[in-house]
Amino acid sequence: MKDLRFVLAIGVCVALGLAASAAPPGRGSTATAAPQVGAAPAATTAVSTAKWVYLTFDDGPSAKYTAQILRILQAYHVRATFFEVGQNVKRYPALTRRVDQLGHSVQNHSWSHPNLTKANWSTFKYQVRTTDRYLRAQTGYTPRCLRPPYGATNRVVAKRAAMLGKKIQLWSVDPADWSRPGTSVIVRRVLSKVHTGSVILMHDGGGNRSQTVAALPTILKTLKARGYLFYPLWCQ
Ligand SMILES: [Zn+2]
Repeated sequence: MKDLRFVLAIGVCVALGLAASAAPPGRGSTATAAPQVGAAPAATTAVSTAKWVYLTFDDGPSAKYTAQILRILQAYHVRATFFEVGQNVKRYPALTRRVDQLGHSVQNHSWSHPNLTKANWSTFKYQVRTTDRYLRAQTGYTPRCLRPPYGATNRVVAKRAAMLGKKIQLWSVDPADWSRPGTSVIVRRVLSKVHTGSVILMHDGGGNRSQTVAALPTILKTLKARGYLFYPLWCQ
C-alpha cells in the first residue's frame, strides 16, 4: 500500500514539522492522561523525569497479524493506537472490538486507503464518515484522529478533516516496517530515532507484517528499560 514517492514526501513533511502534534488525555480518565507533546513537564520529580512515546499501528485490522500484536502489547502492558482502514473493519469487526476492549485507541485511517489530497469533498466525506460508522459500531465512540493514507496531507485535507471533527495525526518515527527491511533494521531504526513524545509508525495490516511482529518485543523491552511510558492517542 506504500509508494516510495509518498514516503519521501512524508519525510519532508516530518522534517518541516508538519507532523501533527500528539493528543492529550485519554478518554474520560485522568489516569491515562498523557502529557501534551512539547508541553513543559510539571514541576514534580516524578513527572519531570517521565519519558513517553505513542506507538501506532496502521492498515489493520488484519486476520493474521493484529491478534499477534495485541498479545505482545498485552504481555508488556503497553497501550497503543490503531489507525484502521474501514473496509478491513467491515471484514473483521471482532478484531476492532478486541483492540478497543484491551484499552487501545482505535482511530480513522480512511475507508479504502486512497490519497486524500486527490479526493473531492464527496469522496473525502465518504472515506471518513463510513469508516467512523463502522468503528463506532465496535468501539462505541467516534474517532477524533484521522491519519491520511501515505501521510499525504495538505491544507485542504486538514481543513476538511476539521470540518468532520477530526485532527490530522501523522508520526515522527518511521522505521518503514512495511518494506520489510529485516527485523533488526526495524528495531534499530526505532530505537535510534525515538525520543520523548515520539509518535512511532508501524503496521499491523496491509501485507506481510511478520517482521513487525518479530521486532516488537525487543522494541518494547528496550524502551521500557529506558524508562519510557506508552500512551494511546485520542486527539481530543
Ligand atoms: Zn496506511
